[in-house]
Amino acid sequence: MTSPQELETLVQRQKEFFNTGQTRPIAFRLKMLRRLQKVIQQEEEAIIASLSADFKKPPFETFATEIAILEAEIKFLLKHLRRWIEPYRVKSSFLNFPSKDYIYPEPYGVSLVIGAWNYPFQLTLSPVLGAIAAGCCAILKPSELTSATSQLTARLIQDHFPPEYLTVVQGGPEVSQVLLEQPFDKIFFTGSVPVGKVVAQAAAKQLIPVTLELGGKSPCLIDETADLAVAAKRIVWGKFINAGQTCVAPDYLLVHEKVKEPLLKELTSTIQEFYGTNPAQSPDFARIINERHFQRLKNLLDSSPVYAGGQTDASSLYIAPTLLADVSWDQPVMQEEIFGPLLPVLTYKTMPEAIREVNARPKPLALYLFSRDKKAKEMVLTQTSSGGACINDTVSHLANPFLPFGGVGTSGQGNYHGKASFEAFSHQKSVLMKPSKPDLPLRYPPYQNKFSWM
Ligand code: NAD
Repeated sequence: MTSPQELETLVQRQKEFFNTGQTRPIAFRLKMLRRLQKVIQQEEEAIIASLSADFKKPPFETFATEIAILEAEIKFLLKHLRRWIEPYRVKSSFLNFPSKDYIYPEPYGVSLVIGAWNYPFQLTLSPVLGAIAAGCCAILKPSELTSATSQLTARLIQDHFPPEYLTVVQGGPEVSQVLLEQPFDKIFFTGSVPVGKVVAQAAAKQLIPVTLELGGKSPCLIDETADLAVAAKRIVWGKFINAGQTCVAPDYLLVHEKVKEPLLKELTSTIQEFYGTNPAQSPDFARIINERHFQRLKNLLDSSPVYAGGQTDASSLYIAPTLLADVSWDQPVMQEEIFGPLLPVLTYKTMPEAIREVNARPKPLALYLFSRDKKAKEMVLTQTSSGGACINDTVSHLANPFLPFGGVGTSGQGNYHGKASFEAFSHQKSVLMKPSKPDLPLRYPPYQNKFSWM
């Protein structure tokens, strides 16, 4: 482990480097983004291997959800960054006449990026793209739970970037806690709600701006007008990709009671179609990250009514894609974010009732609705609050760089992806520019006789 003194020195060195101004020119930012782009391209195989070692993540999923997402983000930044970093003029206020007013985006400075384990490469590096784009330096703290990917990330950054600009510090909560005491200019955290609170408190002590990308229980509503065959495919894909260990996975289904049975049948056959009759042998289904999470999920499973799936194997940390039917709101599986391949199915009678149930719980990171009814779509979108939403799909909103990604309420604060990543690491400095002449005297004292009505 890096000692507290070493961490302090690291932050100090980054501050000194940042203060030289070398990270600010557009040429430098583009060069660093291109360098990272090349590293990711060249190291594809190593990235796939490290994720496979960490939790048997299928190569296609690693390519699609770690590598391709980062590559698309980098391309987007390379295309637009030149325009975003320029100061831009805004309307002036009549009260300040004469003046010209501008927004100057400026880099916050030295930032701390703490990552989660479930998409360990992408979730640590994607915010760093924003830091580079904004002209910041960054210290990355990947999750200790995916040690192969954490080591790979450290090696790649160390081999291609100077530590006073970008560096990786490995370790668990104890390392995070020492880092959180350092005088960063920005903190970007991805992880659970409880640790998000710890990070927010630490940031508050020093009034450091913070982005919190957290989690929660994301509902998926299916009304009686939905195309059930298509819904089943998109739900099974979004739920069981990464073995359900996805922050925006549909956590539970809330189904109109009339279509519960046909939907369960569609879901069951789709699981078979995707992963075969024995998903333990499918090369396309990942494992649970560690024993602690396996046991947590096993306990939830044991206290729930299983409709399909339910097989487990502790020695390989395997839990089958599982449907839990006849679940009620007060069961253990409905009390915490599941973050695994268990899908509870609950029913509702009317859409207002379903909306009431959703609104009675913390605001989720994502909300999904499958419906062909225009009124139902509008009702759900306008009467619920969630970080993001998809109609007739799951998870996919995070892959559009034009859509800022983030939570609301307990599911997070702030957002990123595309321009929002640049903005997450930038301060928008308001600048008023005034000529020396004319110097209108109206605002200066003495005020007497300036206004006839006073
Ligand atoms: P976690 O909160 O346990 O850990 C996240 C990071 O915080 C890790 O790097 C860990 O080392 C560090 N950490 C852990 N305890 C700490 C402490 N006491 N003090 C300081 N740092 C600490 O989360 P996780 O298990 O890695 O990830 C799963 C959670 O993250 C889920 O809730 C999921 O929904 C959420 N998540 C959110 C997003 C998003 O974009 N919103 C993405 C992925 C995961």
